[in-house]
Amino acid sequence: MRGTDIRIHLTFFLLLAWVLLSAWSAGGPAAAFGNVVFILALFACVVLHELGHVFMARRFGIKTPDITLLPIGGLARLERMPEDPKQEILVALAGPAVNVVIWAVLTIVLGASVQLNVLDAIASPSQSFVQQLATVNLILVLFNMIPAFPMDGGRVFRAVMAIYTDRVRATRIAARAGQAMAFLFGFLGLFGGNPLLVLVGVFIFFAAGAESSDAAMRTRAHQARARDAMITAYEALTPDDTMDSAAQAVLRTTQAEFPVLDTDGRLQGILTRHSIIAAIEADHRAERVAGHMTRPIPTVHLATPMDEVLTAMQDSPPGVAVTDSSGAFLGYITRENIGEWFILSRQ
Ligand SMILES: [Zn+2]
Repeated sequence: MRGTDIRIHLTFFLLLAWVLLSAWSAGGPAAAFGNVVFILALFACVVLHELGHVFMARRFGIKTPDITLLPIGGLARLERMPEDPKQEILVALAGPAVNVVIWAVLTIVLGASVQLNVLDAIASPSQSFVQQLATVNLILVLFNMIPAFPMDGGRVFRAVMAIYTDRVRATRIAARAGQAMAFLFGFLGLFGGNPLLVLVGVFIFFAAGAESSDAAMRTRAHQARARDAMITAYEALTPDDTMDSAAQAVLRTTQAEFPVLDTDGRLQGILTRHSIIAAIEADHRAERVAGHMTRPIPTVHLATPMDEVLTAMQDSPPGVAVTDSSGAFLGYITRENIGEWFILSRQ
């Protein structure tokens, strides 16, 4: 889809292979084929669910660089989270809403009967393909509306709480709820002999924790400025330096990135230690730095909020340049430096 890559995680193929093999050995090739088609149809529903989030986010001007498909569902990586709670609620609800529509279409148009006891329905081999698909869409809705992170319901819960308290606290509460839910799943899975439920529990536990620290990080990043994390003491190279002299600079300093400045002190690019080593190994010692540096490098202002610096850095792994209002180069920020800043600025 335009502007969004759909990535399929390796474990998803492992799941497909496992379903294929186990169904084949139990029921022969026809059963194996049926099961694989069912899994693919299920994943199509998961993709449509994620696209629901993507299209709603796009309405609020938020891009989604990629969606990753995991065996237990999809993960849409939004460029940023909507800060307005109302927008966040709409983005979170758009995914499950897609599954409600699919379920309604399968039930009304194709005549699948309404199943209230969904788990019995899915386990029953007498169910038709359409019936099973309708049932799993209902499960997707119910599962995602659990008011705990990282489920969509957790986002709605957080957004509602964020109206009354601050966002970081709201996130922490939703994440705690998620981890409690994870233990419940793990407990039910262990004692009910359902390994899939244990796996889902483990996933929820870690995703909820990650979401909580991510929200805390984003809030801190929004309050800080580019100048708080900028590197101002460094050794620079010029575009006309040789790679041999760049190699000397690697030995002389502890830098992993070297800003490349022209004679007017403007940043032309960044040369990484990695590319210097690669050039030396390929015996390109006499070549100029200009041919090996990464460019263009995004520029941020001294007062740019740190979360925007992080966003700019996503497109430029070596780092971003920091300038003053007149556009003069003052320093740069690398990923490693942001990591150090996060640790050192913790209250
Ligand atoms: Zn969702």
